[in-house]
Amino acid sequence: MTVDLVIANGTLVTPDRLLDSAIAVDDGEIAAVGDERTLPAADERVDASGLLVLPGVVDPHVHIDGYLSLDTYEAGTSAAALGGITSCINFAWEAWTGDLSIWDEEGTLLEAVHRQKEKGQKSLIDFSLHGAITREDPAVFDELEDVIDEGVTSVKMFTAYEIGLSNGFIDHVFEHVADQDIVAVLHTEDASVCNRLEARLKAEGKSHPRHYPQSRPDYAEAMAAESAVRMAQEQGAKYYGIHTTSEKAADVLGRYQDDGSRVRGETCTQYTTLDESAYEEQDSLPIMAPPLRTPADQDALFEHLYNGALSVVSTDHNAFTRADKTVENWWDSSFGANGLQTSLPVFYDEAVNRRGYSPSFVVRMMCANPAQTFGFTEKGTLDPGTDADIVLFDPDESYTITAADNASISDYSIYEGREVTGRVKRTYLRGEPIADDGEIVADPGYGEFVARERPDWEAE
Ligand SMILES: [Zn+2]
Repeated sequence: MTVDLVIANGTLVTPDRLLDSAIAVDDGEIAAVGDERTLPAADERVDASGLLVLPGVVDPHVHIDGYLSLDTYEAGTSAAALGGITSCINFAWEAWTGDLSIWDEEGTLLEAVHRQKEKGQKSLIDFSLHGAITREDPAVFDELEDVIDEGVTSVKMFTAYEIGLSNGFIDHVFEHVADQDIVAVLHTEDASVCNRLEARLKAEGKSHPRHYPQSRPDYAEAMAAESAVRMAQEQGAKYYGIHTTSEKAADVLGRYQDDGSRVRGETCTQYTTLDESAYEEQDSLPIMAPPLRTPADQDALFEHLYNGALSVVSTDHNAFTRADKTVENWWDSSFGANGLQTSLPVFYDEAVNRRGYSPSFVVRMMCANPAQTFGFTEKGTLDPGTDADIVLFDPDESYTITAADNASISDYSIYEGREVTGRVKRTYLRGEPIADDGEIVADPGYGEFVARERPDWEAE
């Protein structure tokens, strides 16, 4: 027997250890792991001396071509491929009407899923979708079964903005989420508290971005999380708190995990590596919601990632231009920042080089846990039989991040000028290289839609 590829002499990073081992790839899957002498002959041999061999990163929170974010699938997933990300979950937005809407009329969740699948045809990486419920229309419950049949086994809800849902409706969604055994993904900020504080800052003329964090404080995030998690627990629904930014909100998730549990949460690379001083240094560029917090929150996020209250690190990638961000008043800025291309090197550098965590910790937070949490059964590991999504990563190479390298349509980086040690050298998706030494080497459309199974949170 001959296999397609053997990657030899590298150090494999699994969720719990480092392994000096070779890895054989055949037909898009990982065929075997072991001493090279025990592996079958291969058509191609790659010498990974000095490199870490990681599973492809699974990013469960991205915004690409769908609502506001400027990135097309080709641009956004090129950035992902260059950053070692091989799978992502984007959003299928139930169309609504209103000031923040891009649609002329309301649409259904199932239509949104079909629309986004279609848009994803130029994807370079494998992608899936969360269904975003934006209106309090119980008709959505009648299409849930069909949405799940399309491989969309998670729904997202907001507690803020005009798409924010009332607790009563969220509670109702949880009932169906529990019934269908899928996952509810929540953006939690108490809208009334945020609105009051925003109005006060406006009245006081505090228009510089340095004031922005005061408009969406940590307690507003924690309050809304508290209500949502409590309802999820009462209904028996699986709950996933996205972009947890603060110690207070992470504490809430941890508290509700005592029963052992249906509560999980993520934070994002930027919340662990930047703090609110970035609004002084970069003006509106890092404006996103919730805001960047304090150095103490960063420390707490790492503690909670380590102890399990949080278990995933994502990007919340959202592409805007510097022009979109250059505004007189912070409240006129677009919200969000791009991060797909830099997330792995920036988080790796922070976690491993600056804070002393092991590369396995990075693999748990960015590969294994997101895959397991969202039902990507073939992703996030180097286990034989799963997809050969592999990143060759040089832990010793240092470089300086600059937006000049961006594949995203976004023309700035919130990490501009940051020197990191650790660089993505090559990214494989299902056995084929898609990015090599900073260049895209696959054709748009190589990435496929992944129909996800109902996530099993019992099987750890
Ligand atoms: Zn987001």
